[in-house]
Amino acid sequence: MDYNALTGMEQTRLTMKRSKTSKGWMKEHVNDEFVQRATREGMRSRAAYKLMEIDDHDHLIHPGQTLIDLGAAPGGWSEVAAKRLAGRGRVIAVDLLEMNPLNGVDFIQGDFSDPDTLERINALIHGLADLVISDMAPNISGISLSDQARAMALAELALEFAQNRLKPDGSFLVKVFQGSGFEEFYRMLRNTFMQVHTRKPRASRDRSSELYLLGRHLKLDRPIPEAPR
Ligand code: SAM
Repeated sequence: MDYNALTGMEQTRLTMKRSKTSKGWMKEHVNDEFVQRATREGMRSRAAYKLMEIDDHDHLIHPGQTLIDLGAAPGGWSEVAAKRLAGRGRVIAVDLLEMNPLNGVDFIQGDFSDPDTLERINALIHGLADLVISDMAPNISGISLSDQARAMALAELALEFAQNRLKPDGSFLVKVFQGSGFEEFYRMLRNTFMQVHTRKPRASRDRSSELYLLGRHLKLDRPIPEAPR
């Protein structure tokens, strides 16, 4: 929608509608169980509880592992991962945005779709990873078709990375949104991993089309990836 093309009255109505929506969002946010819990427990984000719930169920994170966290800021998932690695293993976190330092986490600020960022990640991995987790999500423009396409493009980039950088028995957890491109992406996961599971943790809002897909154990008919040099 071109805001400048609207009449003055239309602009006023739209501004009022948006401010009511954002007030509603703020009220819901403040009352949210996981926002309150994150504040109480000093976690960096409510998103942390999504990874905790998935990991409590699927036991993905174990001391000694190398874990890559894509779309890591403000750091909730990295914080959970570093705690569960208990000082043994490493977390390499990547985000477009800055992130405050976390013990046991190497942070790379950069666009994951930029080959330069990929090179910086590869330079840090020293071998292949046990676990790739991606909570990347694009900034929402409000144009649902293009938001969905950008979200799926990020998920596909993360999958391509996992295909090339995971150990054969590694796992890949990725945020996706149901909608255009979802089924094709799901098929790509099925072609890559022996097991594919769908997860909707409690902290993922019911009204959101967000889902997490978990791929486990790379299919052995695929070429085994070489460790980056
Ligand atoms: N898992 C995080 C946590 O627990 O705090 C929250 C992640 S937030 C939902 C999504 C993140 O994806 C944002 O910080 C955003 O900057 C990042 N992101 C989106 N596109 C990206 C890209 N192309 N490269 C790197 N990060 C990206």
